[in-house]
Amino acid sequence: MSPPPAACARCDRTGVKFATTWPEGRICRRCYQRATRIHGTCPACSQPRLLPGLIDAEPTCTDCAGIPKDFHCTRCGREDEPVRTGLCAHCCLADDLALLLDDGTGSIAAPLRPLFAALTTQKHARSARAWLTVNRHAEQLLRDIAQRRAPLAHETFRDHPVPQKVAFLRELCLEHGLLGRVNLDIERFQDWLESKAEALPAADARLIRQYARWVHLNRMRHLERRGELKKGTFLAAKQSTTMAIGFLNHLVTRGTMPRDCSQADVDDWLATGPTTRSIARTFVRWAVEHGHIPSVEFPYRTAQTTPVIGQQQRLDHIRALTDPTAPITAADRTIALFLLLYAQPLTRISRMTLDQVEAIEDTILVSFSGDRLEIPPPFDGVVRAHLDALPNANTSSHRGQAWLFPGAQPGQHMHQTSIMDRLRELGIDLLGARNAALRALVLEMPAPVVAGAFDYSYTVTDRHRRDAGATFTDYVTHR
Ligand SMILES: [Zn+2]
Ligand SMILES: [Zn+2]
Ligand SMILES: [Zn+2]
Repeated sequence: MSPPPAACARCDRTGVKFATTWPEGRICRRCYQRATRIHGTCPACSQPRLLPGLIDAEPTCTDCAGIPKDFHCTRCGREDEPVRTGLCAHCCLADDLALLLDDGTGSIAAPLRPLFAALTTQKHARSARAWLTVNRHAEQLLRDIAQRRAPLAHETFRDHPVPQKVAFLRELCLEHGLLGRVNLDIERFQDWLESKAEALPAADARLIRQYARWVHLNRMRHLERRGELKKGTFLAAKQSTTMAIGFLNHLVTRGTMPRDCSQADVDDWLATGPTTRSIARTFVRWAVEHGHIPSVEFPYRTAQTTPVIGQQQRLDHIRALTDPTAPITAADRTIALFLLLYAQPLTRISRMTLDQVEAIEDTILVSFSGDRLEIPPPFDGVVRAHLDALPNANTSSHRGQAWLFPGAQPGQHMHQTSIMDRLRELGIDLLGARNAALRALVLEMPAPVVAGAFDYSYTVTDRHRRDAGATFTDYVTHR
């Protein structure tokens, strides 16, 4: 009978390689490694020790477990698993690093000393060693820097053939002050910019680099100094630069050099593509300001295109409504007037009540919000005619509940879709007309006043003011 195969005293596995034999029996390599990494207070003697032993399933120190081995490092006295004979991981790491970071004279290269100090005093010497021995690129680079074959500078890491392999080493150097502070996100943007610029004709590349540096990188650095640099800044900068490149490509396809860029080139750029093209505005304005392209206007555009009829067309409509011979009912005339003069949407007009209109002597007042507005002649006549034509039943007692535009059904107001149909028959583009009216209003009075009096949000009136201001007045007068 052959003896039973030897099993590990701790894990009971057979067919394993054994590391040692302790009082409890043979210990496999895996159990040995695990045991020699446990530090803590020994439950038997209450000393802070390495705890490789085992008593009643509890890790204990070598003395209490009767393990005949001294784990104290022969150099530093630390009780730990020896990496090389008699030497702990810390001492081995220090030896390895001293060799690696040697400047050739037998001492550690001066610029790398803070890194040496940081690595050798950290708690996890074992993992630092593992990282260095596994990562040949980092090891080689450290050697090159120590022996001055490579400068200790950001470029060394950036220009490394496998930058990601030395990225962690770079972060360590940054952390311990071996490299000047740099924002890695800004650097990534620079890399991105370079890759984009390289694909462009030389003159365009120069322009794009200048633009990105002066406008975006400066801003990024400024924000970084204030601790306000966000991820969104990079996205916006990339989008802006991409659109700038798109605009330059647009000029190329039109056979135009930037210095010959005309208003038609800008207008065509905006008219023939998606609304995101308006993002090129920052670039075009910068280029104009710095004399790279002639003075052209780059009008604002809203996110969605806003249909607007021309102001002349709007005035023609208004004139038609005051023509007494036109075949339009007094109600429809009034409704159209509220749309064309006061930019009121039909949903709101159709629900207006009688008390929103007041006739005081010769004056007709209307209120769409809290403000009462005087309707100027000749338009007051149109409204008066409508009031006169209203059936008596409607005007009697309960003015507050009486509709200004009563529908065919008793108690109902006119339905907005039927109004819509009739106004369309008159050739009025309803949304375009309302926007045109709003623009006319905001050109006549401040946007907040328009917002208040005509019951629009300030965002809407301000947007129209900008649109009206930039595309309608400024744009026209500048040309
Ligand atoms: Zn075992
Ligand atoms: Zn003990
Ligand atoms: Zn040691």
